[in-house]
Amino acid sequence: MVVTTTISDSDEHIRCAFASRYATSSLPRYKFPEGSMPKDVAYQVVKDELLLDGNPRLNLASFVTTWMEEECDKLIMGSINKNYVDMDEYPVTTELQNRCVNMIAHLFNAPVGEHETAVGVGTVGSSEAIMLAGLAFKRKWQAKRKAEGKPCDNPNIVTGANVQVCWEKFARYFEVELKEVKLREGYYVMDPAKAVEMVDENTICVAAILGSTLTGEFEDVKHLNDLLTEKNNETGWDIPIHVDAASGGFIAPFLYPELEWDFRLPLVKSINVSGHKYGLVYAGIGWVVWRSKDDLPGELVFHINYLGSDQPTFTLNFSKGSSQIIAQYYQFIRLGFEGYKNIMQNCMENAKLLKEGLDKTGRFEIISKDVGVPLVTFSLKDSSKFTVFHIAEALRKFGWIVPAYTMPADAEHISVLRVVIREDFTHSLAQRLVSDFEKVINELDELPPRASVKTAHVTVDKEDGSQMKKNIVQTQREICSHWRSIADKKTSSVC
Ligand SMILES: *Cc1c(COP(=O)(O)O)cnc(C)c1O
Repeated sequence: MVVTTTISDSDEHIRCAFASRYATSSLPRYKFPEGSMPKDVAYQVVKDELLLDGNPRLNLASFVTTWMEEECDKLIMGSINKNYVDMDEYPVTTELQNRCVNMIAHLFNAPVGEHETAVGVGTVGSSEAIMLAGLAFKRKWQAKRKAEGKPCDNPNIVTGANVQVCWEKFARYFEVELKEVKLREGYYVMDPAKAVEMVDENTICVAAILGSTLTGEFEDVKHLNDLLTEKNNETGWDIPIHVDAASGGFIAPFLYPELEWDFRLPLVKSINVSGHKYGLVYAGIGWVVWRSKDDLPGELVFHINYLGSDQPTFTLNFSKGSSQIIAQYYQFIRLGFEGYKNIMQNCMENAKLLKEGLDKTGRFEIISKDVGVPLVTFSLKDSSKFTVFHIAEALRKFGWIVPAYTMPADAEHISVLRVVIREDFTHSLAQRLVSDFEKVINELDELPPRASVKTAHVTVDKEDGSQMKKNIVQTQREICSHWRSIADKKTSSVC
């Protein structure tokens, strides 16, 4: 028998990505590629390049879920090709999102009647949720001002300087002034009394944070509600509260059911929560819930005919995946109140373990509180020899990603490290991390002092002409572009 082979390309014959010409040629980067490449090679080279990303499980910078049960992974993959917006075609998926909205509203004590459905929607994350909630406040305020014949072109929102960057985005994109209550050393959340002092007739809402991104601390929403009620009564204003419960919304109901922060407080008109944080779903899901239909202006709602009945929609985006909504529903029915409570308790236990371990080194001051989101924020007692930024950098060698950053105004001179405890960060990992912290400190102790580290302050000019106090540590940080992305709180690495 004569064997004839027609080898048009030696790659075909060898069939191994690393034996092909692709292993020695550079990959397309800037221009749309002319030709194609075999699927196995494309898979291999993309996969390999991704090896250089950090390991999500060791990414202690993020609140966002990095582990789910296999059953849920299967549901996610099974619905990866479903466009959520095709509600007519995928009515069950729409139904699951509506169930989730109702369950969350119930969890947050929304005054929803027995046969009523709650008002809310699934979003891509808390950022989209906050854009929608902010828009609703802006429209409501404008309508009221117009009806009173008053100007409505200068709206503002009052928050703490510890707000997450999405509030700054909302303010800029939707032309609302952001009035920030400054922080101070030792107090890193919005002071309710100062917030209420700052409101005026143009304030569309006060945004309180349940679980500050920087320290995990819960702001005192009840106290804010009381002070703002007094102010409204005195002035005849009608200023509402929004609670940004991105991380705390799935903590407080399970661990601190007595804490009043939600719709039990009359001025709280809307709440957002990230399904992909302690809602325990992979990145891509958030929720916003309103107190009642009256709090969501009709002009923001579009109506889609869905199997002959009306399905209101009020999101910024049109098409998106269905998987995250399906996964959220899975988690709710799989875990229930009992399961969420156990997971959050475990997270708190492991946060406590880590806190005690760090405390024992004698080198850190713990800044985060015992009540709040399960995380540990801490600063160095003595930064004269090395700083938190050096520690963050040195921990990388063990694979840990721990962010270091400076606090916002007026506490910029405080720099901290933060470890977020997620469901998949267990006791043994916490022990391991403590021992790696000890190793890093010992190593840094041995190094000769770094000339650039001083604790002195410098005064720098800000864009608006004012001046601010910065410490040398921060200035030094700014020349290190790689670490800046991790160190700066206004980046996704500390979301
Ligand atoms: C994470 C976070 C956000 C942004 O949420 P995404 O779901 O990432 O869009 C907003 N506010 C707070 C307090 C957060 O922690």
